[in-house]
Amino acid sequence: MARIALVTGGMGGIGTAICQKLADAGHVVVTTYSRPGRETQWLADQKEKGYNFHAYQCDVADYDACQAMAAKIVAEVGPVDILVNNAGITKDGTFRKMGKVDWDVVMRTDLDSVFNVTKPFIDGMTDRGFGRIVNVSSINGQKGQFGQTNYSAAKAGMHGFTKALAQEVAKKGVTVNTVSPGYIATEMVMAVKEEVRNAIIAGIPVNRLGNPEEVADLIAYLSGDNAGFITGSNIAINGGQHMF
Ligand code: NDP
Repeated sequence: MARIALVTGGMGGIGTAICQKLADAGHVVVTTYSRPGRETQWLADQKEKGYNFHAYQCDVADYDACQAMAAKIVAEVGPVDILVNNAGITKDGTFRKMGKVDWDVVMRTDLDSVFNVTKPFIDGMTDRGFGRIVNVSSINGQKGQFGQTNYSAAKAGMHGFTKALAQEVAKKGVTVNTVSPGYIATEMVMAVKEEVRNAIIAGIPVNRLGNPEEVADLIAYLSGDNAGFITGSNIAINGGQHMF
């Protein structure tokens, strides 16, 4: 069934693929961006590929801005049945060198955002008896990562949120899941020096990076009507790099 889907950070490497796969599944797709100016080019590029997306500016770390953005989307596009909390940042540094600013900005952008953006949509989903929420975490939230106490904590926190909310809304037809990607071939990862990238790949049993489309396919599946029996899960998509 065609529904309205909101993807935060939908103009990024993985986000763009998520928007496209959800549109391919027949949904109307809305995305957010935080840096003004980039949306015109991105929307034009997507239009050239046959995609007509809606875009709203919003800092997902700002609670009030998220409530305003949600009200605007519901008024202008319609009720949101699918929410993908995908926006995220890293500010790496060993814990001994990490300042409060880099801790706070990652917690606010990667974890508080899940509260800020889910909050205004959850009642609509439970009232309508259908909802799909997918939180994009990371392999590093599952196994920890040197230099990422902030990011690992925020990404692990996302799954705690998933499990608690999944229990609260299960009877109302709303599922809440976490997807934890490993190394994905986005611009950021491809910009890493070739020898460093090769060392990363050597640690991945399938011997390659993942593709944004593979992550997006999984999210599109979890967002579909057929995925109603999957909730509270944390699905790893990491080429076997971390198994648990
Ligand atoms: P990108 O940096 O390409 O995209 C991140 C997106 O988040 C951007 O569109 C950005 O929008 C948005 N964003 C950042 N800060 C804010 C903010 N304060 N408010 C609103 N939007 C914001 O990253 P990826 O596509 O690689 O990552 C997407 C998700 O996947 C992230 O949560 C990341 O942690 C996770 N992930 C990525 C992996 C990878 O290998 N790439 C591996 C595991 C997890 P704008 O530019 O407009 O600010």
